[in-house]
Amino acid sequence: METLTQPQTKYIFVTGGVASSLGKGIISASLARLLIARGYRVTIQKLDPYINVDPGTLNPYEHGECYVTEDGAETDLDLGHYERFIGLHTTKANNVTTGKIYQSVINKERRGEFLGKTVQVVPHITDEIKRRIRLVASKKQFDVVITEIGGTVGDIESLPYIEAVRQLRYDLGATNSVVVHLTLIPYMSASGELKTKPTQHSVKTLLENGLQPDILVLRSEKSLNEEIRKKVALFCNVDPDAVVESIDVPTIYEVPLKMYEQKFDSVALRKLNLPADKEPDLKNWIRFVEKVKHPETEVRIALVGKYTELPDAYKSIVESFIHAGAAHNTKVRLVYVNSEKLTPETIDTALGDKCGILVAPGFGNRGIEGKILAVEYARTKKIPFLGICLGMQCSVVEFARNVLGYKDANSTEMENTAHPVIDLMEEQKNVTEKGGTMRLGAYPCRLVDKHSHTYAAYGCEAISERHRHRYEFNNKYKTLFEAAGMKAVGINPDTNLVEIVEIPDHPWFVGVQFHPEYKSTVLNPHPLFVAFVKAALDYCRIAAKDAGEENKSEK
Ligand code: GLN
Repeated sequence: METLTQPQTKYIFVTGGVASSLGKGIISASLARLLIARGYRVTIQKLDPYINVDPGTLNPYEHGECYVTEDGAETDLDLGHYERFIGLHTTKANNVTTGKIYQSVINKERRGEFLGKTVQVVPHITDEIKRRIRLVASKKQFDVVITEIGGTVGDIESLPYIEAVRQLRYDLGATNSVVVHLTLIPYMSASGELKTKPTQHSVKTLLENGLQPDILVLRSEKSLNEEIRKKVALFCNVDPDAVVESIDVPTIYEVPLKMYEQKFDSVALRKLNLPADKEPDLKNWIRFVEKVKHPETEVRIALVGKYTELPDAYKSIVESFIHAGAAHNTKVRLVYVNSEKLTPETIDTALGDKCGILVAPGFGNRGIEGKILAVEYARTKKIPFLGICLGMQCSVVEFARNVLGYKDANSTEMENTAHPVIDLMEEQKNVTEKGGTMRLGAYPCRLVDKHSHTYAAYGCEAISERHRHRYEFNNKYKTLFEAAGMKAVGINPDTNLVEIVEIPDHPWFVGVQFHPEYKSTVLNPHPLFVAFVKAALDYCRIAAKDAGEENKSEK
């Protein structure tokens, strides 16, 4: 295809106005999906205007889940959306924060690299932003880089980013970049009207900062009529076909299809002077969306964690279940169970009617005993169980306490104990800094037992998964565990660390030290989630059958 011979990487900048949380990430990911479906090589980058160097040290209540890339960057959860939509790995370079920008400028200043000059927001901070935007395309050739600018236009902290984009557009020259601005069109139910004024003001703010948007995406509760589109086009200086509506849809995965119907991608390509003659191949995507919207069955799975009031804290897990559910034509109904509230008295009500139990990742002591109780419930009642990271560690502690009989067994993250079945890695013992110092990113793992559930799920021996933790299974106890019925079925070939545990004498009991949820995508649902949902479906089918038979025999 001739487009792929284009020497120049083109840039699409996505800004937001009027309100936050309008879904810039989903819009960026949807546009990327459409361009990829047309054969373009595309990546997406997020610029976050906060001063944390990365979100690794943030409480999930601040910005939701911390997403981890293959190369071990702790990033904003939008990068998870990007990967799930585009099916390609992102890297450290795909998430830039104000903290990172200032850190590198200040380090440079300390090294004397500014040669005595005064270091200023313009040009030094803006230059560093421009360098970071270009860095994504420096190692790998992309036809298009989509850069999403976090925050809302008009915020003080966004200004250097908008100015950097203004300069970069100038440097790149005409037709090599476009600005997509996402705003809100509120609906006034009293007068039955859609209001365009906030959008006009938002575009004015952008213009004051020297940026003219090329495409407007308007988030709205109600469909926009022709009159509204024309009005917005006229007052905001954009082509009428460059006004795109984004109304609420039942699933975020439908957004690319809605965008395609309005030719969002072809308008963007036209403005970038790239051919749009090849129609996108969306067959598999459409099939997936159909399955999500029209499931044949439903399966209830409990997600046991301590951030249950904010489902964004478990974003990738939630999405992985949507992908895996679609693979079985089923809807996974996730029921959030707050581990702090789980006690022997409440557990039957909370977990008794579930077809599967997932114990979530996490940090610290709070809610830990509830998680351990949930593991015991899944193990003894033979309910399919998936433990992720801290969830896997809880399954090890539970087994040590209740099967091996070490009542004081624990992870040393929680307390010092005579039976530290989960312990700090040797190389972690001298680490004092919190940021970016965990075991992060992709590590290889060998599935050593061909009869394990994990081997059956992956169908191969060598796998690689992403990590984010400090503590590990304590290998001193491995022989004891294996003799008592908990097997280490996944081992890191370089360090011998235990990555996966299973209980063979259980329908489906799997604990993984890594985070499979980071690698599940729409077109490649994660094999472990697919297998777990299957086990949950089987469990409830059998349970329903048994109940039916019991009823019959009672009659
Ligand atoms: N807190 C645990 C550790 O650091 C688990 C981390 C997690 O669940 N991501 O090892």
